[in-house]
Parts: sequence; C-alpha cells; structure tokens
Amino acid sequence: MANSGGNFEPQDIKAWLAANSDRIKAVFNEDTSKVGTLEVKVQAFNPYCFILHVWTGDTHKRIKAYNPNTERLAGYCSRETQLLGALNDTGLAPRLYDFDTTENWYISDWIVGSELHATVTPDNIVAASREVGQWLAKYAQSILKVDAFSEAGKKQHKNWRDYLVNYGGVIEQAALDPEADFLEGLTLDTRIVAKDDPHFGNYIRAEDGTLFGIDFEMSTLRPYGWDVMVTARALLRTYPGPQFDHIDALVDGWAQGTDCIDQESFRKLVRWFAEKTAFDVNNPTVEGFRQILHAYNANATVPAAKIMQVPGFENEIDAVGADVSQALTARIRSLINNADQPLSVEDYLASDTTPQDSGTADVSLRLAKTCETCEGSCCSRGTQNLAYLKEDAIYRTAHYLGTKSLAHVIDAYVKHVPENHVKNSCFYHTSTGCALPREMRSTICNMYQCGAAQAVSKMTSELDPDVPIIVVAGHHTEVKRAYAVSEQLSKKLDVKIANTHTSNAQFTR
Ligand code: SF4
Ligand code: SF4
Repeated sequence: MANSGGNFEPQDIKAWLAANSDRIKAVFNEDTSKVGTLEVKVQAFNPYCFILHVWTGDTHKRIKAYNPNTERLAGYCSRETQLLGALNDTGLAPRLYDFDTTENWYISDWIVGSELHATVTPDNIVAASREVGQWLAKYAQSILKVDAFSEAGKKQHKNWRDYLVNYGGVIEQAALDPEADFLEGLTLDTRIVAKDDPHFGNYIRAEDGTLFGIDFEMSTLRPYGWDVMVTARALLRTYPGPQFDHIDALVDGWAQGTDCIDQESFRKLVRWFAEKTAFDVNNPTVEGFRQILHAYNANATVPAAKIMQVPGFENEIDAVGADVSQALTARIRSLINNADQPLSVEDYLASDTTPQDSGTADVSLRLAKTCETCEGSCCSRGTQNLAYLKEDAIYRTAHYLGTKSLAHVIDAYVKHVPENHVKNSCFYHTSTGCALPREMRSTICNMYQCGAAQAVSKMTSELDPDVPIIVVAGHHTEVKRAYAVSEQLSKKLDVKIANTHTSNAQFTR
C-alpha cells in the first residue's frame, strides 16, 4: 500500500535480493557468459532507498532500490531511469540495464573509481571544475536531443530577474537588489531537464579517468545553463575565494552561454549567482539552521536577529612543506622589479600600486567571529597562490618593519612561516588563524569577504550593536560549529542542544 507520509519501514535487502535474483543474474548474463557467485556490498541504506554494489569477477553492477512504500519516491525512480535511459549511449552516466518503476528500482553499471569530491584538492579544483563544465555541456546537448526533456518558445519568464524572484528566500532577495539590475537584460527561453544536483559526490571518476554523473533523482526542468549556476554555488561553498578561477574554469569548460545570452554575460550571471546565494540561510527550506536560531532565542536576553551559514573548514594540522620558504623567497624577489635597489618608505608611499585602503584596519567583532566560526575556508588556496602576495604588500611590509632592505622583508616573511599549518590550506594558516600580522598580508587577504562575510558586514551596519546573529559553519545536516555574535559578545553554541557557553575560540583571520 502506497504511503505518501514520511514514516515507513526500511526495506529488507536480503528479501529484495531473493525476490529479484533472476533479473539480477540476467543483467550479469548480458556482460559475462559465466556468472559466478555474486558478491554484494551495501553502499547506502536508509529509509528512502538502498544502493548495492554487486559484482562477479570484473563485472560490476549498481542496484538502487527506492522504498516502494512511498509515492513520492516513485517519482524519483521514474525520473532517474528516464534520464539514465536517455544517456545510455553517451558515456556520461552508468549504463542502465533493467528497471521496475512499479517496484522502484533499477540496475546499472557500477563505475569502478572514486567519487569526484574525494579526489578534489585545492591543487586540482580548477581542472576538476573545467571537466565538470565539459560534462555539463555534453549532458545538455544529449538532453536537448530528447523532445520530452526540453521546451522552448513558451517564454514563461521575461528575463533572469523575473525567473529568480520567484524562488523566494535568499535568491529572491539577491535578484531584487539594485546590484542585480543587469539580470533584466539577460533573457531566457529554453528549459531542459537539469541534473540539479551539483554535489561532487554525484560524479564518479573511473579508473581510466573518465567522468560519469550518477544519481539523477533530483532532475527537473530548469532554464538552460542552470546546472552551471548551481555547480558554481556549490564550488564557492567549498572554496570561497578570493580567487574565482574555479568558477571561470567551470564556465570555460561549459564553453558557451545559453540559448539567449553570450558566454561572457553568462559568466557574469554565474559568478553573481554563486556569490550572492551561497551562504545566507534566512530561508525556510533550511529548517535545521532555523532550529538552532529558535533554540538560542528561547533562552536569550537579547534574541538573535539573523542566522548565517559560512563554509566550515576541517582543522586537521599538517607539517608545512619543506619547499615553502624557497618558493616564497623567489616569489617576493620576482615581485620587485629591481631587487638590487633597496626598498624605501618613499618607494612605498609613491607606489601607485599601493591601494589607499589595504584593509589593515580592525574589523567588527561580528565579522571577526564569522571568520573564526568558518576557520578560514577562503585561505584554502593560499599555498598555490603563495599567500596572494603582490608588490604593494612587500612595500607595505617594508614600511611596517621600518626597513629599506628587501632581504630583511623576505626574512620576515620566511620567519613567519609556521612549522605546522591547517592541512590543504595556506602555509600561513594555523589552527589559531593567519600567522602573518595584518600589515604583512596581501591586500586581497585583508580585503576579501566572501558572500557570507559581506552579508554579516551589511547586517552589522543595520543592527544595534547588542543584537546577536547566529553564525553556523558546515552543512545543515552536519553543523560543525555555531556561535552567537554581536559587537559585545560571542557565545559558542552546542550544535546538538543549541545551548550556550562562553566562547574561548581564538581563530582570527
Ligand atoms: S571571508 Fe571569513 S567567512 Fe568567508 S570564507 Fe573567508 S574566513 Fe570564511
Ligand atoms: S589570510 Fe593568511 S592564511 Fe589566509 S591566505 Fe592570506 S596569508 Fe594565507
């Protein structure tokens, strides 16, 4: 009996396998003449579905069985099998062999390899993003060939602003902002069935390097290019900046605009969408975060006004690479055109590359604590970019140290390199924050604010100093840290019981 509610019994995997053993064997028979004993490993098991890895010898299959006791999941299975069927000869997704949309299951190839998110690092994120852009372009081409998977000429929305304001929450707010006026000039027409699930765990890199998309149950009709936009947003949640070369690589891999706008206009749309919508969670769909806000306010003297999500870095500590000092020295030398000339404060003051405001002024407590809660996710690519140092920071440091010697400046930068740093992040990134004094950091390090930090700065200018906001780091299914912060207090929240004790956190950026 179908049940559209949320309370239903998980499936019995053993009973399911026994009931469907003939069809499973028939699938294996298509690929291998001699079907030996089938090995089975449970990949995922929850009340909604189970996923099995089944293999014999070198032949591997994937069984995904949605719980047939709920009507809602029947839609997922039918959507996913239709998509997989359409992609069967494209090499973009695992081949579909058998399915049953009454009993809500299917059997496809199991791609032997690794989930993309497990292999992505700050070193390869740009290349991986380009590849995903290429995958999305091929996916869109394949989908456009199937009449039932696209529609054009209906003009349900005049332009991207018109489309996005219907989303509600942070997307609507961002689209209504005067900064987003440019969206009115960006028209849209064709809609296709988008994957609409950008998480890199839903891509598998096969052992030969080929990229496959998996798990299409979220697919739904969206404007052409939508998958690129939500992928950029997901990228920014993991690698917030200050470089956006991963998003540029994604758009370059996509290698087009949309059916209505050119590639550069699309790039602007994608970057704007990612930056403006990645972190604000004042949105009814993120109920887990709202519960933290409500739990805090139940006991607070001054209730928190807002809740804000930030990325959440893993604070695993690792030794700094032995080659860092050498690379840093070479970089600083290369930044100064004529390293034989001594640096001078006059040079610094006269340097037209030196910005008037290099962000060394103190930041508000709310902003400082926001970055503390995040633990510096935007520093994650600082090693690849050698702490983002530019010429202006070198002159500023000379001024700060009161020296005219480039060797002295280099020595100071090298001496500040810590023994240990946060793994997969900038070599200056320690468990308590940046090892460099603000005066020695690059201008971009001092000035950069991700979308969440910008939103907190805006809130700070609008809220009374004693009104807290709640800052949460991590995904709403796995909150890593949460703080209530105003200009006068900072309280660490227990993310399980959402109650408080005084903060002793020390991270600063
Ligand atoms: S600006 Fe602050 S909140 Fe944003 S990513 Fe950087 S450290 Fe995190
Ligand atoms: S703020 Fe410090 S730790 Fe972060 S990227 Fe810049 S130099 Fe590296």
